[in-house]
Amino acid sequence: MFRLLCLTACLAGTAAAESPKIQALIFSGRNNHEWRLTTAHLRNLLSATGRFEVRVDEAPAGCTATTLAGFDLLVLDYNGPRWGPGCEQAVETFVRGGKGLVVIHAASYAFGGLEILGEGHVRTGQREPAWAEYARMVGGSWVEGPAKTGHGRRHLFQVRTVDQDHPIMQGLPAGSDQNDELYHRLAMRPEAHVLAVAFDATEIEGTGKDEPILWTVEYGRGRVFHTTLGHDVEAMSSPGFGATLGRGAEWAATGRVETPPPPERKISVLLVTGGHDYESSFYTLFQNQPDLRWDHGLDRASAEAFGRDMAGKYDVLVLYDLAQNITEEEKRNLMAFVASGGGIVALHHTLGSFQGWEGYQELIGGKYFLKAEGDHPASTFQHDVWINVQVADPEHPVTRGITPFRIYDEVYNKFWVSPKAKVLLTTHHPNSGRAIAWISPQEKARVVYIQLGHSGQAYSHPSFQQLLRQAIRWAARR
Ligand SMILES: [Zn+2]
Ligand SMILES: [Zn+2]
Repeated sequence: MFRLLCLTACLAGTAAAESPKIQALIFSGRNNHEWRLTTAHLRNLLSATGRFEVRVDEAPAGCTATTLAGFDLLVLDYNGPRWGPGCEQAVETFVRGGKGLVVIHAASYAFGGLEILGEGHVRTGQREPAWAEYARMVGGSWVEGPAKTGHGRRHLFQVRTVDQDHPIMQGLPAGSDQNDELYHRLAMRPEAHVLAVAFDATEIEGTGKDEPILWTVEYGRGRVFHTTLGHDVEAMSSPGFGATLGRGAEWAATGRVETPPPPERKISVLLVTGGHDYESSFYTLFQNQPDLRWDHGLDRASAEAFGRDMAGKYDVLVLYDLAQNITEEEKRNLMAFVASGGGIVALHHTLGSFQGWEGYQELIGGKYFLKAEGDHPASTFQHDVWINVQVADPEHPVTRGITPFRIYDEVYNKFWVSPKAKVLLTTHHPNSGRAIAWISPQEKARVVYIQLGHSGQAYSHPSFQQLLRQAIRWAARR
């Protein structure tokens, strides 16, 4: 989750002093978006990499070859009337001759023969014939007709890399969160090489399909990088937008990417214990993990553990406590945390928490019955047993690479597991329930429960350690 606004700092300090700076020109000055803000932000993002020297042209119409001379890269933050045949020809020649072009968000609407949009999405009623070569150059464009291009409600979605080997995407996280418009039904040209997609959920009036988000086009001897992202400065402030813009622009201008990928942000974990004894060696599971930073909420009552600002502060909540008291406000905070993309790794005795709150059991996908309720008997446990663990789903990111193992730990029996939970680990131990690790039935949430982990013998087991590490990364959407 990338919730922290990341302005120029994300890209700062990565200057490649050896190479001469790439000379970049932004064509702007007209857009149905807030071009004064977005163009300034694009300029800052590119300059902050240390790789570009950036100029802005707010009146590109009527440009000539002389306008473009000396530049390696043209960036289009423009959506408005055509520029005239001489200027358009000069742009085509510029790219075809081996230079770079970067296309931002609404620039894919321009020059397609659609109604020209005015400032602030105002309609003008004016149309011009399409610039056919532009559609070839940019690789994907807005069109009208039955399959009309558009976007659903702006929301938070995940951009997923589909070509991790491309120089632009190498070393970047396989997924990154974006709060933006998700363009759909663009008319894509076969020349477009898609680098990343996003799933366009029907809940936000999307297509229910993956839509292309980032792509490249080889045009003559030149290169084009196209991002559909970047509706406004907030959308442009995500680490994913910044990293792909800088790398995409560098690749478009030079055919290479020298900028090292930004260091992966550490996963922020809130560890919650209390209400049940445990050995202090539990903490060794979290020490010396280079991708983690963690805080320890000593008990749930502490304002921190289920506080309102949890959603902006932590990626993953690790629950290793046994608690019954929770206020309605804390319940809402927990659900808001999950709804906003936060992950939960629930361990061992936390299956017995909040006996009276069904929402928690639905979220975790199970319940340890501290006492009999109606027809359901009380759950049972047995300490200090050898457990043979089978891997029910070796393909899942939480269990990938884990082979069947034997562990000295505690078993539970007669607990409830949601029939809709996705089971990851099982055992045939006679005094244990069959499923001993699963994914929450709430498909969009990133919640995993692991029954193992009573004592130091479990904490020190390599398979348990791997399981926990992978569970935290998956819950953090890494
Ligand atoms: Zn937009
Ligand atoms: Zn225990």
